[in-house]
Amino acid sequence: MKFLCDQMLGNLSRWLRFFGFDTYYIQSDIDDDELLKIAEKDNRIIITRDKELIIRANKRKLKIINIDSINLDVQIKRILKNAEINENKILSRCSICNTILKKIDKQDVKNKIPNKIYNNMNIFFFCELCDKTYWMGTHYDKIIKKIIEIKNGN
Ligand SMILES: [Zn+2]
Repeated sequence: MKFLCDQMLGNLSRWLRFFGFDTYYIQSDIDDDELLKIAEKDNRIIITRDKELIIRANKRKLKIINIDSINLDVQIKRILKNAEINENKILSRCSICNTILKKIDKQDVKNKIPNKIYNNMNIFFFCELCDKTYWMGTHYDKIIKKIIEIKNGN
């Protein structure tokens, strides 16, 4: 299941990527035509709060998830009604750019991260595009905590 988040949903898109969903996020000011084209071409579900966009996407028979809250947890909950998290995919994508992360050897991240993290963590991932390092531990725990919060909250 692939998603496309509109410009107002940057935070949500980051979290969807943390969960491992392939999520295109429109950062630049592209027009709705272009956005609809991308969704159609890549077979992405459009996640949006924009009523006008919903009408246009409906006309093209594109799949939409209509977000009506500005609360992140409520937004995530709405998505998870439509899509299930695959635990193996958590932390598999860069939250900034959507690129699939690569596993990287511990010795190769030494200069990229704080010493404390280096000493305490053993599994590291890396985004080649952003030059950003992620690790099992605080990143992973934060994601799991969020999933549990959302499953328990109403
Ligand atoms: Zn990246």
